[in-house]
Amino acid sequence: MDYKDLADIIFPDAKPIEYYEEKYPERNLKEGAIVTRFAPSPTGFVHIGGLYQSLIAKKLAEQTEGVFFLRVEDTDQKREVENGVSGIVNALKDFEIQPDEGMISENEEKGKYGPYKQSLRKEIYQSYAKYLIEQGKAYPCFCTVEDGEEMRAKQETAKIRPGYYGVWAKCRNIPVIEAIEKIKAGEDYVIRFKSPGREDRKIKHHDVIKGNVDFPENDQDIVIIKADGLPTYHFAHVVDDHLMRTTHVIRGDEWLSSVPLHLQLFHELGFKAPKYAHIAPIMKNDNGNKRKLSKRKDAEAAVSYYDEEGIPAEAVKEYLLNIANSNFENWRRANKEKSIDEFELQLNKMSVSGALFDMIKLLDVGKTVISTFSAEKVYDESLKWANKYDKELAEMLEDKEYALKIFGIERGNKKPRKDISKWSEVKENIGYMYDDKFLNKKQDYPYQVINDKSDINKILDLYIEKYYNENDDKQTWFDKIKELAGEMGYAKEVKEYKANPDNYKAHVGDVSTVLRVALTSRTNTPDMYEIMQVLGKESIEKRFEKAKKAE
Ligand code: GLU
Repeated sequence: MDYKDLADIIFPDAKPIEYYEEKYPERNLKEGAIVTRFAPSPTGFVHIGGLYQSLIAKKLAEQTEGVFFLRVEDTDQKREVENGVSGIVNALKDFEIQPDEGMISENEEKGKYGPYKQSLRKEIYQSYAKYLIEQGKAYPCFCTVEDGEEMRAKQETAKIRPGYYGVWAKCRNIPVIEAIEKIKAGEDYVIRFKSPGREDRKIKHHDVIKGNVDFPENDQDIVIIKADGLPTYHFAHVVDDHLMRTTHVIRGDEWLSSVPLHLQLFHELGFKAPKYAHIAPIMKNDNGNKRKLSKRKDAEAAVSYYDEEGIPAEAVKEYLLNIANSNFENWRRANKEKSIDEFELQLNKMSVSGALFDMIKLLDVGKTVISTFSAEKVYDESLKWANKYDKELAEMLEDKEYALKIFGIERGNKKPRKDISKWSEVKENIGYMYDDKFLNKKQDYPYQVINDKSDINKILDLYIEKYYNENDDKQTWFDKIKELAGEMGYAKEVKEYKANPDNYKAHVGDVSTVLRVALTSRTNTPDMYEIMQVLGKESIEKRFEKAKKAE
């Protein structure tokens, strides 16, 4: 009885690994092409950190004419939720980070290196586990949960390193014949890797992001196949990234400390190891403490948050690139019009420690991004958002022609308006342009400098009676406000007022403010000429009447 007999008893039907090696050949890509992946568990929650990793992975694949694929890691079936895969697929779709290969819906996939769902790869893992057993590099372990607890308690009391290694690896030396008897007798077991490592020896590793790191060798005989026949993360990672011909494993840095184990597994299986790039997590400043963005504590950790708030996907991606490469900001300044696809992302420029997530900055990016959208796109996107989250806004947008006029104010020119950072701000932002909302509600009139009620009313009356003409161009319109100011004893030019403040009650700017506040109840609005054009005479008159009557 030898290792081969043992392997045959455990996995009688497993195919030889050559079958898979042939089925999934080296990819035929150009030199330097990066093959990488996003490999989430379908837990129903997509973390912004996962989106960040995917964005980086997809960009690198694209830049190098490589491949970005989506592999679903569902070997921990306790953690699974219904439609967990669709949640991930849709999140990537919403952000236009679609994979070239892998899962494309709950149960469908594309690409030649699948299946891309680990639970469907059971036979593949078993073939490779069998291969290791045949060579005496893996073995069945019959320890029970109680055995494990007992071992841990002893290690704790003796204050020694925990784990299944060296003398603690009880089943490592069970003679083959005995192991076969136990299996035949129906005893439960898992398969463990027989680690050739020694903790007192070091390995040197170069991580693409973290740089050179030294680790002690792995000496733990980790479980590779669980009692349910499915692999552990470690084993599945090595088998899959080998067979899917991944060149770069881009993943969260919580896995950095597993690198010695993974390299050892690659080596013992006779595979070439991929490059590793461990991404630092996105951090949050919590009252002066820097901590990871947490699924439990922070709404913004969930990708769904951005959709609910109406922060455009373009803004989120642009912001994430800001975090990823510090030179992005300069590139953006120099290339205002370019798509982020043209930015050359570099893995080795990523920060080694976690970057802080700054919502204010993200919303600022949102403002800039939305300012580049056409009125039509602003309309479409706000409507899409409103249909999902805000009935009242959706109703306001029913009159498309009018809404387009509002969104068109100060848009499409050199310095477009930058007043919307997310779709959930639109209602507040345009509400005053709607007569039914504006006229039927009590309004405040913060007139600023000119506060004499009879003067204010006179300005409003005179403007409508004598000066307003909806066909005026902007220059004529403004010249008329100057005239009006002059007629009422205000300086026509701010300069004149500053030179002789005693000669005037105030200046043309203050008169403008009166008109603006009476029209909108705001001191700060986009261009007033355009607002008046959109409102039209009837609305302007009604608004002035309302202002005149206000206390
Ligand atoms: N399923 C693992 C996770 O969710 C994947 C890590 C990796 O990318 O290899 O963290």
